[in-house]
Amino acid sequence: MLGAEPEPARLGLEPLGRLLDRLLAEVERPPVEQASPRSRAGETPPFDTMPAMQETLRVRTRRKSDVLDLTPGVAGVVERARVPEGVCTVFVRHATAAIIINENADAGVRADIVSALDKLFPEGVWEHDRVDENGAAHLKAAFLGPSESIPVREGRLLLGTWQGIALVECDGPRDREIIVDVRS
Ligand code: ZN
Repeated sequence: MLGAEPEPARLGLEPLGRLLDRLLAEVERPPVEQASPRSRAGETPPFDTMPAMQETLRVRTRRKSDVLDLTPGVAGVVERARVPEGVCTVFVRHATAAIIINENADAGVRADIVSALDKLFPEGVWEHDRVDENGAAHLKAAFLGPSESIPVREGRLLLGTWQGIALVECDGPRDREIIVDVRS
């Protein structure tokens, strides 16, 4: 029938809008039993109740190239954090050192890592050597990367039997800082 097209309001657009509002309000206000003290809608959780911990490990390397086992130090932080389930990030705050996860039982693996890096990145042929003569060290560190993440459960690192966390020094000897961050 000509001229009898319903207005938008009569098509139910207003009720649909109210329905959306109601659904959004429900999403924003979860039932009380689902809201934990640190996850109430619209509230920023206070820092002192966050299930997380951060500590700095400090080590002194003794050689130009070295691989140092960090596993006991990192495991200590994870134990203190008491996170039931989460992740531990280990991050070195330097441009010429790296973090790896690999076998820590046989010292031969550590020696192989150092000699393989030396073969891949020979000294004295890089642009950056003109600035401070450690171009190879930067490349080794960039190749390996500054951090690793390890799952944690009930205060323990979920490493495999032969896995350990290690700092790879590429331009020592130096003092090095490693951040260990544990959170659920
Ligand atoms: Zn440099």
